[in-house]
Amino acid sequence: MAFEGLSERLQAALQKLRGKGKVTEADVKAAMREVRLALLEADVNFKVVKEFVDRVRERAVGQEVLKSLTPGQQVIKVVNEELTRLMGGEQSKLTFAQRPPTVIMMVGLQGAGKTTTTGKLARLLKKQNRKPLLVAGDVYRPAAIRQLQVLGEQVGVPVFSMGDKESPVRIAAEGVARAKEEGCDVVLIDTAGRLHVDEAMMEELRKIREEVQPHEILLVVDAMTGQDAVNVAENFHRELGLTGVVLTKLDGDTRGGAALSVKAVTDCPIKFVGMGEKLDSLEPFHPERMASRILGMGDVLTLIEKAQAAVDQERAKELERKMRTQQFTFDDFLEQLQQVRKMGPLDELLGMIPGMGQLKGMKNLQIDEKQLARVEAIIRSMTPKEKQRPEILNASRRRRIALGSGTSVQDVNRLIKQFEDMKKMMKQFSAMTKGGKKKKRGG
Ligand code: GDP
Repeated sequence: MAFEGLSERLQAALQKLRGKGKVTEADVKAAMREVRLALLEADVNFKVVKEFVDRVRERAVGQEVLKSLTPGQQVIKVVNEELTRLMGGEQSKLTFAQRPPTVIMMVGLQGAGKTTTTGKLARLLKKQNRKPLLVAGDVYRPAAIRQLQVLGEQVGVPVFSMGDKESPVRIAAEGVARAKEEGCDVVLIDTAGRLHVDEAMMEELRKIREEVQPHEILLVVDAMTGQDAVNVAENFHRELGLTGVVLTKLDGDTRGGAALSVKAVTDCPIKFVGMGEKLDSLEPFHPERMASRILGMGDVLTLIEKAQAAVDQERAKELERKMRTQQFTFDDFLEQLQQVRKMGPLDELLGMIPGMGQLKGMKNLQIDEKQLARVEAIIRSMTPKEKQRPEILNASRRRRIALGSGTSVQDVNRLIKQFEDMKKMMKQFSAMTKGGKKKKRGG
């Protein structure tokens, strides 16, 4: 996976700050030296690295950070925010025309993945209930037209082609006309690439641009080429005025430099990333999620989105109150369990929890869905009174529950023990937080 080396080194550098009660300016400076090396080694543009490290250092040695209760965490938060900013801040979406069809020109050097990406994007747009038309404008590369036709068939999107004898400018114009005739609302024009940036190619692309007045000009670049990708993007942007970049092959072992430098160097946002050869492997680019992933902080946002969709906020507050006041019952326990399960497969959720990403690959940490089903069955076999007042669960009741739920008495005992432990923990926790509050008021 891309970013692996960078991710490891950044985490190692910041790990030293995490959990430290007191962080000095010297600590921050030492960590930033390592962050700087990690970024340079990941092939991030050196100017970008310098600016980045300067900004983080300046913010991190500020009083709010060093004097805060969790200075180490705060520094990591600053790094996360600055990484997000570096990659463009917010997600940059495609612009669609007020009056369809939206015209998207796909440009890039040969081998970057332009034709494949054009097919992938058509698939993505079709999934969003749009009606794309693919236009085969790469008349120079042998087999490019055929490749686009095959892709079109695979994703179920029509392809407009006039063979390889017409001028690309005419093909593009006719393609847009065809889209209007057929009621297609997005036109994706695959254009010809070259091995290197050259004037003839740019001239042709400019002519196409003038002819069809595209709403988007997306440059497809290969993330594996690192700083070359950034240079190519700079060139294309100067000559054509890009609206966005698609970084392909981010599934490979790219060091990540291109992803981190493109926006800062060219001011052109990354809109999509290619994560594989398959047609379903094009993803919208989310800077904040990418930053969190690089820092091993998990994809908390996606997790929260899922939680918000699954959890009834009012009920959640009520459950929290019950926990605090020691009125938590097996009914509540079951309800919580079900809310968690609504969010999706557990191992997928685990990967989104900060710090858990690394654990995910470990064989002995396989989360057992069956175990959960057993817990549910046990609770369902309890009488309402037992659920409300677990202390009445004597040996004969436990035997009956085991029988009723198709589990063993040990299983039942274990669950009751877990439940009691959890209650105890909640009690300690609420005592602790109460104590903390009192102290604050006193001081
Ligand atoms: P073009 O010359 O720019 O049109 O390049 P192609 O679309 O023909 O792609 C060149 C090669 O890159 C093909 O083998 C693609 O399968 C591959 N490719 C494209 N995008 C990705 C990606 O995101 N990940 C990987 N691993 N391969 C990709």
